[in-house]
Amino acid sequence: MIALTLDRIAEVTRAHSDAAVHETMVTGPVVVDSRAVTPGALFVALRGEKVDGHDFAGAARSAGAAAVLGSRPMAGVESERQLVVDGGDTEVVAALGRLARHVVAALPHADVIGVTGSAGKTTTKDLLAQVLEPRGSTVAAAGSFNNEIGHPLTVLRATEDTRFIVAELAARGRGHIAHLATVAPPRIGVVLNVGTAHLGEFGSREAIAVAKGELVEALPRAENGGVAILNADDDAVLAMAGRTAARVITVGQHAEAMVRASSVRLDPLGRARFTLHLGADHAPAQLGLSGEHQVANALAVAGVLTALDPDLGAAECASALGQALPMSPSRMDVRTLADGTTVIDDAYNANPDSVAAALSTLRTIAGSDRRAIAVLGHMAELGAEHDSEHHKVGRVVAETGVDELIVVGPEAAPIAEGARASGMSAVRQVADATEATAELDKQRGAADRPLREAILVKGSRVAGLEQVAERLYTQG
Ligand code: ATP
Ligand code: MG
Repeated sequence: MIALTLDRIAEVTRAHSDAAVHETMVTGPVVVDSRAVTPGALFVALRGEKVDGHDFAGAARSAGAAAVLGSRPMAGVESERQLVVDGGDTEVVAALGRLARHVVAALPHADVIGVTGSAGKTTTKDLLAQVLEPRGSTVAAAGSFNNEIGHPLTVLRATEDTRFIVAELAARGRGHIAHLATVAPPRIGVVLNVGTAHLGEFGSREAIAVAKGELVEALPRAENGGVAILNADDDAVLAMAGRTAARVITVGQHAEAMVRASSVRLDPLGRARFTLHLGADHAPAQLGLSGEHQVANALAVAGVLTALDPDLGAAECASALGQALPMSPSRMDVRTLADGTTVIDDAYNANPDSVAAALSTLRTIAGSDRRAIAVLGHMAELGAEHDSEHHKVGRVVAETGVDELIVVGPEAAPIAEGARASGMSAVRQVADATEATAELDKQRGAADRPLREAILVKGSRVAGLEQVAERLYTQG
């Protein structure tokens, strides 16, 4: 963070305090976990489901926090080190947003780049962070810090030296992204896709598009530097060109995309090779990440690079993309075991689109001579569409030509039904990750299995399937 006096923070956050003078300097970081406090920090007390941050304010102060901010007076902290806002927890979150907005406005040369979409936000954010860092000091959200708390906390990590702030913006409903965009106004906005993730909260794909499009509506006009990077392969995203006054850069495999990939193919580890076109200029590109869907994410990154540097050549852009590696665990993490089995760990999360993408990568990696095994847990947050979307995924498993399906947990049962209804017979259902591991051990140990395999492990975070992949890796 940039250093601020407590007085200034009180003014910006609209907090009050008993003390008269607040010349105390807060140098940051701004944290919500007292264990993350370092000297000079501002500790923000939030009420969680299990614990109340206000109870840890004293500990935060003892650990060196310069001040604490909460919705009620906090024990163990001198009154002149306390900032209190009226209105409970929501007001503390709002205060955090106001502080972030003040800090970002005060940064001399930081560009905020916002990334939204149904799938691929974190992957693209991680790619962007790696590709931008050599071009200027970059602050990117940790993990999926993408909501009204995580987003300001990310922004508040920026300092005077920061050139790029890469933010992941999630839409949990209408108005969310519009709000996040006021916390840190983006100059460049990336919209990856409009899928069916979080359908439960929205009701329809159209409603999801309305919410995600708030990002491009928030961008500055073209003449003021605003740029929207839109996926030309997704109609709902492309249509957002009509909702922004920013310059539009289209990206995709679509023939008319301004930043385009052609001749896409996957190598034996599922890493994409393609020809990258920037207008008339083109060059071969090879990604370090597995999965055909990474092409879309890489093209979005290429779009950002060309927005920042219109003279960038295709070869230089392709080389930047090729250097990026997977950063977050259990996201299309492809490894080959000692016995030649390839394991694709994509257990971080799952929605209908990302499962379809991962299944197709599984089939490609397995090739024509290896068995493709899919170990699938359920997809969370589908609301009323839960059963039908799982059933559909089962159908996709069968249609993709997966040889064997292991369905994990009762919530995922409709996947098995969908696969069977589409004529697949090698379908097994197990109760949990432990049983899935046992089932794999049994199958892989069978004497009559001469062929090496490719195994995909995927499900929503709550399904906990990363243990299955972990076990396969440690078995080697
Ligand atoms: P969340 O909303 O949970 O934060 P996210 O948008 O950040 O999700 P990622 O974590 O990057 O998404 O990826 C989630 C899943 O989607 C992964 O399984 C990944 O393989 C898959 N995925 C990544 N990019 C794409 C894409 N462009 N299209 C479809 N699936 C994708
Ligand atoms: Mg994410």
